[in-house]
Amino acid sequence: MSDTKKICCECHGKFVFSAAEQARVAAKGHTAPRRCRACRAERRDNRLSAERLARKKEKETEVHCCPLCGEEFLLSLKRKVGVLRYCPRHF
Ligand SMILES: [Zn+2]
Ligand SMILES: [Zn+2]
Repeated sequence: MSDTKKICCECHGKFVFSAAEQARVAAKGHTAPRRCRACRAERRDNRLSAERLARKKEKETEVHCCPLCGEEFLLSLKRKVGVLRYCPRHF
């Protein structure tokens, strides 16, 4: 295998897909990257911030007891106040 020049599908810049990288990708059964290093790093950052957002959402839920069966369930804190909160079964 030898180094291959590829065009990034994101920024359309040239980048080198090195022989070592090709071997690594092949060993893992992955497909060849379509983005340059910078664009891949950016995508990774986006994914990380999406994960952070998801975690934040989790925090905005709290455990409630269903007034009918007493079962505990998670409820979003963003829901309207003053509405009786039942578990998903009694909703
Ligand atoms: Zn790029
Ligand atoms: Zn219930």
